[in-house]
Amino acid sequence: MPLVNAEEMLKKAKAGHYAVGQFNINNLEWTKAILNTAQELNAPVILGVSEGAGKYMCGFKTVVGMVKGMIESLNITVPVALHLDHGTYEGAKACIEAGFSSIMFDGSHYPIEENIEKTKELVAICKERGLSLEAEVGAIGGEEDGVVGAGECADPAECEMIANLGVTMLAAGIGNIHGKYPANWAGLSFETLDAIQQRTGEMPLVLHGGTGIPADMIKKAIDLGVSKINVNTECQLAFAEATRKYIEEGKDLQGKGFDPRKLLAPGYEAIKATVKEKMELFGCVDKA
Ligand SMILES: [Zn+2]
Repeated sequence: MPLVNAEEMLKKAKAGHYAVGQFNINNLEWTKAILNTAQELNAPVILGVSEGAGKYMCGFKTVVGMVKGMIESLNITVPVALHLDHGTYEGAKACIEAGFSSIMFDGSHYPIEENIEKTKELVAICKERGLSLEAEVGAIGGEEDGVVGAGECADPAECEMIANLGVTMLAAGIGNIHGKYPANWAGLSFETLDAIQQRTGEMPLVLHGGTGIPADMIKKAIDLGVSKINVNTECQLAFAEATRKYIEEGKDLQGKGFDPRKLLAPGYEAIKATVKEKMELFGCVDKA
């Protein structure tokens, strides 16, 4: 199946009270692990690419080529969206040109008027080209590829304004943060989420910073209208842990254990296990 935008999979998720996972990719192993797991579980999936990861993978065109090639070679038939994560205005335009099927424009650090203006322009371009568009209101704390926010709760009235511009999905800060959650984290603000959901109706809502949010909070967020959940750090931690174990056990020194295809295999399997666990928690298994 060719790349699809995220609109249909998220509408179905919102109506069916489950969430689709966005898993960020960093290289070939990441991409292969996520695509194979989605196919095995018959789940729709969104591959997230931050601008930093895009640069690391030698540019957005390289990413598009790799993902499209893999979908064909691995016989992936579940719906796959290739999505820019936390895009700048310029990055969004570059990904549209490179062949991404979905874009996030993060205008949350602009004053609301400017966020509206730029989002509006990208809504028009994405509509014309058949891409889905995610907008953000209220900065999500932690580190967004170098942009560090303090974490906040979005203003539901501002969420309604942005939702009405014709975006496909809306990310709103509800106390969630990127990366690992600190021990004294206050938890998600379900009051804010409920107020946003009431003002934005059918709009699929996006929960960023899915790493380390307890399962019961994830389930409650899905009940309150979250249809897309972003997971990034958790796959990184799982990959690093499995790779460290391989080396600490001296396996790279045994036989041809230094072969990168062997060295990276435990990390690949660890990403697969993490993605599977998340897809089961989000309820998107067999929803392709
Ligand atoms: Zn994010």
